[in-house]
Amino acid sequence: MTNVSENNNNRYRLCPKCGNFSHVAEEQFFCILCGTKLIESCHQCGKSILHPQGKYCHHCGATYRTVPANAVQ
Ligand SMILES: [Zn+2]
Ligand SMILES: [Zn+2]
Repeated sequence: MTNVSENNNNRYRLCPKCGNFSHVAEEQFFCILCGTKLIESCHQCGKSILHPQGKYCHHCGATYRTVPANAVQ
């Protein structure tokens, strides 16, 4: 195992609204906190989400958030 960056064991789904996250193995598809559909890859370049706390894509720098933080109710 030399290339772990695209390994399923190290990928997460993120809520683009509130930032909640879930490991892909948990097979959560919607945010348990706000009901938003979780994303599992960058909407701009399609790279997997490797860091659960990440707010921006490690590859292209696009934000994972589709709703500005200050707009979250
Ligand atoms: Zn959420
Ligand atoms: Zn990207």
